[in-house]
Amino acid sequence: MILTQCAVCATELGLSLGKKCGRCSTRYCGAACQAQHWKEGGHDMLCKKIKKAGGAEQYNANKKYSEAVAVAAEACAEDTKGQTCYICTQALHWKTKEGLVRGCSCRGTAGVAHVSCLAEEAKILVAEAEENNLAQKAFEARWARWYTCSLCEQEYHGVVRCALGWACWKTYLGRPEEDFRRLLAMCQLGNGLAAAQQYADALSVQEAELSTLRRIGITEQAILGVQGNIANTYRALGRFEEALSLRRDVYFGLFRLHGEEHGETLREAGNYVNLLNQLKCFEEVKTLMRKILPVARRVLSESNELTLKMRWNYAMALYRAEGATLDDFRAAATTLEETTLVARRVLGGAHPVVASIEKSLHNARGLLAAATRSR
Ligand SMILES: [Zn+2]
Ligand SMILES: [Zn+2]
Ligand SMILES: [Zn+2]
Ligand SMILES: [Zn+2]
Repeated sequence: MILTQCAVCATELGLSLGKKCGRCSTRYCGAACQAQHWKEGGHDMLCKKIKKAGGAEQYNANKKYSEAVAVAAEACAEDTKGQTCYICTQALHWKTKEGLVRGCSCRGTAGVAHVSCLAEEAKILVAEAEENNLAQKAFEARWARWYTCSLCEQEYHGVVRCALGWACWKTYLGRPEEDFRRLLAMCQLGNGLAAAQQYADALSVQEAELSTLRRIGITEQAILGVQGNIANTYRALGRFEEALSLRRDVYFGLFRLHGEEHGETLREAGNYVNLLNQLKCFEEVKTLMRKILPVARRVLSESNELTLKMRWNYAMALYRAEGATLDDFRAAATTLEETTLVARRVLGGAHPVVASIEKSLHNARGLLAAATRSR
């Protein structure tokens, strides 16, 4: 359920509380709101239409999908002017009359399409995978079409990702609650809403996803994955304390599950340390990085992007911490000099991470010079 509130007064109902309209499944906190909705809220006019669309959840998803497609086409109008869809070859969609979008790394005339056409392709590919009982890897490659461009292989972003999220959810929401495609679709919708910076809505979808997963008793691994997404959303909403506490849980959860050398544990350590730095928890950054950096350098290698970012975070904590000493400034500058060299070689001089590391190096050198002078 994405619709977790009373349709009249917005009381939170979770996945199962409240009362449903017997015909269309619209949910209410109780009989009073239901009666009011029928008499004064226009539900007497809409009930049949909602039932015909497949119930309240489906009706809502279809409506949100159309709105999201219109928003995406509008946002892409300038970029796609005078172009045609690479799937149906038309400028205007024959049936829906929707405009074109592009939300990936394709350039020139490549990658321009209708959201409907992209969604139709993904739907057909996944249906084929289901019919032929494809193994997990092959299934995942097809499922990726719901969020990845088949031409440039980059993930869709922004409002295009959001429209495809709604497309995906409206395609699979009618499946049984424990069907994994329905769960994956819920995840796509949450990610899509976050990509369009609709964080409050993203959070409510992710919370619904989490409670569904808990209810059907899914693996610890999957739960930690959703909690990681929720931590990102909390951070985007400025709810930093909750973000930090969840991030910590996810990191130690993965640590217990996979051990410190596992790729996912290390990636999560990177997220965790990044947030700690943002919240100025420099002592925690230092302690954590002294433990994890040797592992990252050994397992991922010195020139891995994640290792570079961790070293950068460590150096920043060194020079930004209250009471930082001359030795700290010196160590930070040295670390950043090394990191800059490797990052330039691996990522290229134009990479935004390189520019950010160089800026930190500049700051560290400034502080080191000032501290040396004042001695
Ligand atoms: Zn109510
Ligand atoms: Zn109804
Ligand atoms: Zn098309
Ligand atoms: Zn592309």
